[in-house]
Amino acid sequence: MVPVIALVGRPNVGKSTLFNRLTKSRDAIVAEYAGLTRDRQYGEAKWQGRTYIVIDTGGLTGDEEGIDAKMAEQSLQAMQEADAVMFMVDARAGMTPGDQMIAEHLRKMNKRHFLVANKVDSIDPDIARAEFSPLGLGDALPIAAAHGRGITHMLEQALGMFPKDNAEVAEAEGEEGETVAEGEELKRIPGPSEKDGIKIAIIGRPNVGKSTLVNRMLGEERVIVYDQAGTTRDSIYIPFERDDAKYTLIDTAGVRRRGKIFEAVEKFSVVKTLQAIQDSNVVIFVMDAREGVVEHDLNLLGFVLESGRALVIALNKWDGMEPSERDYVKTELERRLFFVEFADIHFISAKHGTGVGNLYKSVQASFTSAVTRWPTSRLTQILEDAVREHAPPMVASRRIKLRYAHLGGANPPLIVIHGNQVDSIPKSYTRYLENTYRRVLKLVGTPIRIEYKGGE
Ligand code: GDP
Ligand code: GDP
Repeated sequence: MVPVIALVGRPNVGKSTLFNRLTKSRDAIVAEYAGLTRDRQYGEAKWQGRTYIVIDTGGLTGDEEGIDAKMAEQSLQAMQEADAVMFMVDARAGMTPGDQMIAEHLRKMNKRHFLVANKVDSIDPDIARAEFSPLGLGDALPIAAAHGRGITHMLEQALGMFPKDNAEVAEAEGEEGETVAEGEELKRIPGPSEKDGIKIAIIGRPNVGKSTLVNRMLGEERVIVYDQAGTTRDSIYIPFERDDAKYTLIDTAGVRRRGKIFEAVEKFSVVKTLQAIQDSNVVIFVMDAREGVVEHDLNLLGFVLESGRALVIALNKWDGMEPSERDYVKTELERRLFFVEFADIHFISAKHGTGVGNLYKSVQASFTSAVTRWPTSRLTQILEDAVREHAPPMVASRRIKLRYAHLGGANPPLIVIHGNQVDSIPKSYTRYLENTYRRVLKLVGTPIRIEYKGGE
C-alpha cells in the first residue's frame, strides 16, 4: 500500500511550500479536489524508490473553536486517512497556543506523527528544537521548506520504514551497440500473479455508478467470486474468475457482500482512490454520461494518467439517453479527453448490464500492452527506423545520436533510449518516438514512458 502523509499545522507555517517541494516534479497531478476537499490538496511524490501520497490539509488553526470548526474537520479526516502526520510549526514565529492545541489533539489521536520545525534558515536549529520541546512530541525535525534544507533527513524519518515500490531496473550502461540482457528486473513487476490475476480498480467520483458496476461485474453468472481475502483499511479486494481468467476487483465504492447482493457501505475517499489506482494493473474509470465530463473527472483522470496504469473508460448510464444527448457527450469526450486518447471508451449501463461484458476485452488488451516484455532488439529496430524516417534535430551543429533502446519497466512500459546529447531532445521529438512505438507495437490502453540515458 502506498503510504499517505498528511501535513498539518497552523496557516502560514509553510505547509504548501513543503507540499510543492515534495511533489514538484509531478505537479501535473497535484489536484485540488474542489468541493469535496476545499481545504485539501493531494499530490503524489517519490523519495528513494518509494511512492507516497501527500495531503496538504491547510485547515488547522487550533486557537479558536478550531478543532470543531468545519474547516478543521477536513484536516482531521485527512489525518485519519494518513499513515503518518507531519505536524509543522514555524520556528521563526515560535510556539503559539494554536500549536499546543494541535499537539494535544495529535497526542490523543494515537497516530504516527512527526514534529517538523520549518523556517530554520533564520533560526538556529538547536534553538528551534528547544523552543518546541514543551509540545511533548519529541525532538522537532528542523527544515527550511523554501530552501530545501533538512528535507532528506525528515523523509528518512517519515518514510524510511516503508518498503520500496519494486526492484529498480539494473543500470544498463554499455558501449555502443551493446544490448541489455533480457529478463532483467523491471521497475514495476506487475501480475498477473497466480493469486490475484489482473488487478482492476473501479474508479470514479461519487454517484457515477461504481458500486452498481461492481455488482454487475460480480453478479454475472459466469463469474465465480471467491471469499474475500480479507479487507484492508481502504478498498475492498474481490478475487474472481471469468472465462478461465483470474481477476481481482479493487473496489473503492466499498461494496460489501450482504447475502446475495453487494451493498455500498463506505463513502468516497480520495486517498482510497489514489491507493487503489497505485495498486492496480488496470483502472476502469467510470463517468456519468448524463453529467458529461466534469472537473472532478479530469482531476481523478490526471491521477490515473500520472500513475501510468492501464486505463479503460466506462461512460455509464447510457441507458435511456436521447440520440442528441449521446452525440453531445461523444463530442465532449473528444474535446476534453484528448490526453487519454490511448484508452478504449465503452458506453455502458451498469444498471441494465448493457456493454459491461465488453469491458473485459479492453481490460485484457490494455493489460497485455502494459506488461509485454519487448526484446531489446525489437525496440532498437523501431528506434533505428524512426530515426531514419525523421532524424533528431541538430544541436550546436552536431546531430543528436540515439543508439539503442531497451525496456526499463512495465505497467506502464518504460522505454529507455541510449544516446548522446539526449538532454537537448525536444519534447516534440519524444512525442514522435512515443507515437511511433505505440503504433508499431500496437499498444492499446496504456500510457508509455520514454527515458533517455547518456552524456552531454
Ligand atoms: P501554509 O499556509 O502553511 O501552507 O504556508 P505557506 O507554504 O503558504 O508559507 C507561508 C509563508 O512562509 C510564505 O510566505 C512562505 O514563503 C514562507 N516560508 C515557507 N517556508 C519557508 C522557509 O523555509 N523559510 C522562510 N524564511 N520562509 C518560508
Ligand atoms: P457510486 O457512488 O459511484 O458507487 O454510484 P452507485 O453505484 O451507488 O450509483 C449511483 C446512482 O446511479 C444510483 O441511484 C444507481 O441506481 C444509479 N445508476 C448506476 N448505474 C446506472 C445506470 O447504468 N443507469 C442509470 N440510469 N442509473 C444508474
